[in-house]
Amino acid sequence: MPHMPKWMGNVVETVFKKFIHDVTVAEIEYIHPNLKRVTFTGDFSTVDFKLTQAVAFRVDDIHYRNYTPNFFDSETGICSVCFYLHGNGPGSAFASRLTVGDKLKMMGPRGRSLYEEGSKYHFFFGDETSLGLFNSLKSVIHANQQEYLGVLTLHPDLFALPDKLDLMLDVVPKDSAMPYEHSAAYVNSLQGKLWDVWQASIFYLTGNANAIKGVRKILLNKGVSPRNIRVQAFWAEGKQGL
Ligand SMILES: Cc1cc2nc3c(=O)[nH]c(=O)nc-3n(C[C@H](O)[C@H](O)[C@H](O)COP(=O)(O)OP(=O)(O)OC[C@H]3O[C@@H](n4cnc5c(N)ncnc54)[C@H](O)[C@@H]3O)c2cc1C
Repeated sequence: MPHMPKWMGNVVETVFKKFIHDVTVAEIEYIHPNLKRVTFTGDFSTVDFKLTQAVAFRVDDIHYRNYTPNFFDSETGICSVCFYLHGNGPGSAFASRLTVGDKLKMMGPRGRSLYEEGSKYHFFFGDETSLGLFNSLKSVIHANQQEYLGVLTLHPDLFALPDKLDLMLDVVPKDSAMPYEHSAAYVNSLQGKLWDVWQASIFYLTGNANAIKGVRKILLNKGVSPRNIRVQAFWAEGKQGL
């Protein structure tokens, strides 16, 4: 769905009416000049949204993009999304343009829930695009008296973001020449008693597709069961709209 002719977009919107919701931009907060949290309001009373599922927006005449709400409440009709403004595509341009009072259509929910409710331990790996998803997971993990740990690959000027979102995560610098090497070193450094406990956790790998691939391989080499690894790629270099 990320790219389709305008007429086809109109047909899709007619056929899948049940999954299309009128929303209004109620609030905007710049957590950082490149991370924009947008709160949408609408009638979501018939929406069965599950944690970590995505919603989608038509970002221009022919492109759709997926985003993961960091908060969704069907009863109060509130949904908020953390948009990373990387400045390279129509999704980012759409998010930059959003202002309070805008009326638009939101599609969803889409995809499956990644959350494994029965596990006490949850390990996060991702980047700027993962902040919303991890923020939503964190709230439920805390409410269920569970624990999380993890690492984000971020541009150094974004290192303060996890703290601002109350996310207790480690950070490693983003380096385009080495898309996941710093995270790999971090994951490899998990050893001894800490690793004995966390090896059996659920691993949520999100964000850049190549980085996910590299970290997944390391986890498998370290003895993590493939059943415990949840993968959701959000973007890939040179590719449009995953
Ligand atoms: C299920 C799902 C959930 C998602 N949830 C979120 C979310 O909560 N928040 C969020 O911000 N995004 C999220 N994304 C990513 C989002 O949908 C867009 O793919 C992304 O914003 C890029 O869209 P674009 O149109 O701006 O760029 P595209 O047209 O997709 O790409 C254009 C160019 O920009 C580059 N590019 C794309 N993304 C990045 C990036 N992050 N950093 C640097 N360069 C990039 C590409 O390599 C490409 O060269 C999610 C994606 C999926 C599939």
